[in-house]
Amino acid sequence: LTTRLPAVGTTVFTRMSALAAQHDAVNLGQGFPDFACDPRLVDLVAEAMRAGHNQYPPMTGVPALRQAIAGKIRAVYGHAYDADTEITVTAGATQALTTAILAVVHPGDEVIVIEPAYDSYMPAIELAGGTVVPVQMALDDAGYHVPWERIQAAVSTKTRLIVINTPHNPTGSVLRDSDLEALAGIVRGTEILVLSDEVYEHMVYDGQQHASMSRHPVLSARTFVVSSFGKTYHTTGWKIGYVAAPASLMVEFRKVHQYNVFSVNAPMQHAIAGYLADPAPYVQLPAFYQKKRDLFRAGLAGSRFELLPADGTYFQCVRYGAISAMPEAAFAEWLTSEIKVAAIPVSPFYRQAKESGIVRFCFAKRDETLALALERLARI
Ligand code: PMP
Ligand code: GLN
Repeated sequence: LTTRLPAVGTTVFTRMSALAAQHDAVNLGQGFPDFACDPRLVDLVAEAMRAGHNQYPPMTGVPALRQAIAGKIRAVYGHAYDADTEITVTAGATQALTTAILAVVHPGDEVIVIEPAYDSYMPAIELAGGTVVPVQMALDDAGYHVPWERIQAAVSTKTRLIVINTPHNPTGSVLRDSDLEALAGIVRGTEILVLSDEVYEHMVYDGQQHASMSRHPVLSARTFVVSSFGKTYHTTGWKIGYVAAPASLMVEFRKVHQYNVFSVNAPMQHAIAGYLADPAPYVQLPAFYQKKRDLFRAGLAGSRFELLPADGTYFQCVRYGAISAMPEAAFAEWLTSEIKVAAIPVSPFYRQAKESGIVRFCFAKRDETLALALERLARI
């Protein structure tokens, strides 16, 4: 059998979680909380099941949930998506991203991907027959940022799509309004579409506002905006998210979606529809995670790790050059097996593994978990 994805093995998240379990290490690798979600949310799911919401929901998503999503986006970002024609509920962000790519990328099309990039984008583009055009982020004292002149230079007549991720996994960087203007300047007057992965939309710190593509009139008119309730509600195992896009794009998205999953589990859609009406959980999220970020950064401040800026997401990237010259994957494995704290190397987020001497820690953990990890990391 000839493989469709020759460059793909098991994901770094799966491998590092397995290694963490094997060595009984504190798992700051794969991004997921080690604390419970709101029990009210669990009650709402049980209630939805008892109320009989156990058969196929509509292909596009339960109407009450689509309306709640449209209402939230309107309230937070000021853009009015039509709940019937412009919002679709998906089985997590991963499915939304892959479905959007399969819906619009034709064989031979080019897709610009900004590296380091979340691992699901490139395989999906390749499955669609598209060509990945990677552009690397720049890294200086202010942290990682997108070099828009290099994105502009990468655009060709074959460019179909640009993939954006803000707040950004793994770097924790966030786009600003000036970045959105730069992107709008590149796509204006072209037929280039944008796929914007905004799963960490409610994890932006220090009083900054999330630069959602839906806030920008030029960009929202050509963008698939993707988000995930797994991140916002501490329920990564529920695999439920959504895509918002102009109706003309959503028609194509749904053609693929209906044969990809057809529809997404009913009880959780009903539960989240009720829960989303209350803004408090997502309004309080930045303060909740900023405290954890600050705790984690303070704990590493006196160590030999060099902290990179962490403006968004629940990830903290660090340079470890003062500790070791090992390649990132080897260093992450050593940290896991010897220091008993698991991290994720950044190198696999590049198409051709790039060594920057940087690993990523996830701080979406109980304070006790972070304290235990910090005690071990500070000793190195
Ligand atoms: N995009 C990014 C940037 C992510 O970090 C994740 C979660 N690891 C996803 C997409 C996938 O989200 P979900 O679990 O909802 O599929
Ligand atoms: N998004 C999570 C991370 O970056 C991992 C999700 C997964 O395991 N696929 O750690």
